[in-house]
Amino acid sequence: MKQFIYADNAATTQLSKAALDAMMPWMLGEYGNASQPYSFARKPKKALVDARAAIADCINAQPDEIFFTSGGTESDNWAIKGSAFSDAQKRATITTAFEHHAILHSCYAIERLGYPVAYLSPTEAGLITTKELQTVISDTTRLVSIMYANNEIGSIQPIKELCEVAHSHGALFHTDAVQAVGHVKIDVQELGVDMLSASAHKFNGPKGIGFLYIRKGTTISSYLDGGAQEKSHRAGTENIAAIVGMTAALTENCKAMDEYIDKAYRLEKRLLDGLRAAHISFSGNGGDNTLPGLLSLSFPGADGEAILHRMDLSGICISTGSACNSESTEISHVLQAIRLEESLAKGTIRIALGKNNSEDDVDRIVQALVRIVG
Ligand code: PLP
Repeated sequence: MKQFIYADNAATTQLSKAALDAMMPWMLGEYGNASQPYSFARKPKKALVDARAAIADCINAQPDEIFFTSGGTESDNWAIKGSAFSDAQKRATITTAFEHHAILHSCYAIERLGYPVAYLSPTEAGLITTKELQTVISDTTRLVSIMYANNEIGSIQPIKELCEVAHSHGALFHTDAVQAVGHVKIDVQELGVDMLSASAHKFNGPKGIGFLYIRKGTTISSYLDGGAQEKSHRAGTENIAAIVGMTAALTENCKAMDEYIDKAYRLEKRLLDGLRAAHISFSGNGGDNTLPGLLSLSFPGADGEAILHRMDLSGICISTGSACNSESTEISHVLQAIRLEESLAKGTIRIALGKNNSEDDVDRIVQALVRIVG
């Protein structure tokens, strides 16, 4: 029987046992609405307070700087739209050409409303430089939004330095850290960011829950109008089970962070060494400083989509950097942004190893790849 190997942890991750256990009591017994004044609401109310404090602790923030959302997409929409709509004098946004669509499509939406947006180009190694930002930023810039790490190629951006440039022009700085939170150490004080997006299902928490960190004193428009939840900035009855599950997952990952990072880089090296030992021709994307476990590999002349399907037949989940339709293979906007040559872009796959992967998984991934592209 073929054994299933999940190596697409940048798409989503398996819920951790700790997260599931933490969620269970809130699904059936403790179903009270945290906004109600009676004693049955006391426990969910306290769960919210504790969750906010624990999450804040993981990223070195204050509890009242954590706003619960439905995930990365909502956090990104809120940061982009909430910033644009909050200052009539400073209306311009700067982002990058290789952001996730949650940012790009939010930017297209504000552009349609007449707000100017500039899209910075990354280098071929997948980096946004301070020099590039300096050429575009002005005193009319309201927000600079640059992702912490790219979801397709894993390149980690110089956020602290980019943030300093934004602040020197009186602009706010947001980072989409959806791929990074729970995987690398995040310290919002050290980075200096005003806003940061995170999503639980990327760090072994449940789907449909995330948060937006908003530094105290940052003025952005509310996202959802309604009740007084999240200090009246994001209305809607809180999903306590999901919030508690997210908190358990993040706390667990942050505690084991160093160990996890060591393991992920060890597995990456094993995979690359395995391909080299089999004399497979390939190149890696995203430069030298990438997310632990995330590999974007290009096999010259190969078809990434075909590799994905053949890996699937071997019971292995990975993803590609291109999307096929019957007429053409479309190269992803990320690979286009780093100007990867077409024959490499078409043969690009993403392998995203997670904390549940083993050396044996990696060896089987290598064997399958050697069979397919060798
Ligand atoms: N931002 C990045 C960088 C992502 O990788 C993703 C998901 O793939 C998102 C935002 C969207 O997050 P969610 O799935 O929680 O809406």
